[in-house]
Amino acid sequence: MLRLEGQERAEVWQRLMAALEEYATRVDTHRVTPELNPDKIRSLLKRFDFEAPVPPLEALDFAVRNLWEYQTHTPHPRYYGLFNPAPTTMGIVADALVAAFNPQLAAWSHSPLAIEIEQHLIRAFGRRFGYDPATTDGTFASGGMEANHTAVLTALTQHFPEFASTGVRALTGQPLLYVSAEAHHSFHKAARLCGLGSEAAREIPVSHDLGMNVEALASQIAHDRHTGLAPFMIVATAGTTNSGIVDPLAAIAEVAWREKIWLHVDAAWGGAAALVPELRGVLAGIERADSITFDAHKWLSVPMGAGIYLTRHPKILDQTFRVVTPYMPREAAGLDVVDTCLHTMQWSRRFIGLKVFLSLAVAGWEGYATALRHMVAMGERLRHELQASGWEPVNQTPLPLVCFVDGKRPDGNKSAYLDAVALEVVTSGKAWISTTRLAGTTPVLRACITNYRTQPEDITALVEALNWARGRVRG
Ligand SMILES: *Cc1c(COP(=O)(O)O)cnc(C)c1O
Repeated sequence: MLRLEGQERAEVWQRLMAALEEYATRVDTHRVTPELNPDKIRSLLKRFDFEAPVPPLEALDFAVRNLWEYQTHTPHPRYYGLFNPAPTTMGIVADALVAAFNPQLAAWSHSPLAIEIEQHLIRAFGRRFGYDPATTDGTFASGGMEANHTAVLTALTQHFPEFASTGVRALTGQPLLYVSAEAHHSFHKAARLCGLGSEAAREIPVSHDLGMNVEALASQIAHDRHTGLAPFMIVATAGTTNSGIVDPLAAIAEVAWREKIWLHVDAAWGGAAALVPELRGVLAGIERADSITFDAHKWLSVPMGAGIYLTRHPKILDQTFRVVTPYMPREAAGLDVVDTCLHTMQWSRRFIGLKVFLSLAVAGWEGYATALRHMVAMGERLRHELQASGWEPVNQTPLPLVCFVDGKRPDGNKSAYLDAVALEVVTSGKAWISTTRLAGTTPVLRACITNYRTQPEDITALVEALNWARGRVRG
């Protein structure tokens, strides 16, 4: 029963293909959001007691039907959310191939093609960010969280060579890393996971434009050094989650260089600007980063999860992750190749890079630039249509992410009102949109173009939904 045979297998493949095609062509017409009712879902699951086997087509249909019903449809063109894309066709194809061939990337000799494809991509993306391909190294990861965690580990290993063997307890001063108050919270988690504690992630205030305040950074580092603490890493963000702001990368790179500490640029979403010639300038300075996080499962629209960690220090992943074992394959000993398990925190590892490789191979850099440009144009359009209806954008970024308040209401910048508007829109199923707080204080509505298929009529529909919600929320 684990492997289906003959006609039965053929029918399952066919049904699967039909389901994928139907989702690709019809998701646009569906509600964006599901009903949130855990009891209903749990009672659907009751019939699966795993005592009586279910026929394969029935099991498949169950999954398809209820995925339609019970998820926020991130591939929907009216999902204005948190960088979750509509996956590329070739990315879906790749993930299916990977499941079927099931390559094991831990050791090069088990998956030579897969590992060489990933290394080829690492060098190609490194070049886009201005790294020298001769010294570019990196690894694919589950996502930005793992890539950022990897960055903290490599920075620790570089700065405190004894860290790999004796750990943080052996260090003389408390290690500190610096993030802006608008940085992603994966660094607080990473600081914990590295045994530093989340307080080791020092938050530097942001300036008026929501970018890291570089003077505050420099003086905080000086102060911390003076009190015997051990700064080892600065994190700059290229495209903040809240509002798409790019920290002043070149000025931060100067501070890192002067202070001789590791510079990491978290470009999980915004890094895709490197693929669009007229946007490339917003990333100026990123080539000076010791390491970079870039998520292909965000703005490059491949299925989750596809994080990328890049570095221009070719030995550091080895120093950070290599442990010697007697049981791993050794057929490739003597070849100039890398066993992935010696360069990442994962051991058994899925072929993450294929969905990026096939998507990029088919679209080309130019195809991606065109898609990204389109989304930027939709962002501009959204900004204008919002303004025309009395909503007031409050962030300034060339990336397609708009934070805004309601200029037509006296309570239009209050979180109770903005949350109520977002909830009206979301529960109506017309679109998905959210609220957040900029710099931890200013409440805003937030809409991001994450889908290359979002069209002008989808933008208009969002603004109409917001106008409708405005009328429904009491003052
Ligand atoms: C999304 C994001 C992350 C976290 O990445 P995951 O892929 O969700 O793990 C980190 N930093 C930034 C700036 C992000 O946008």
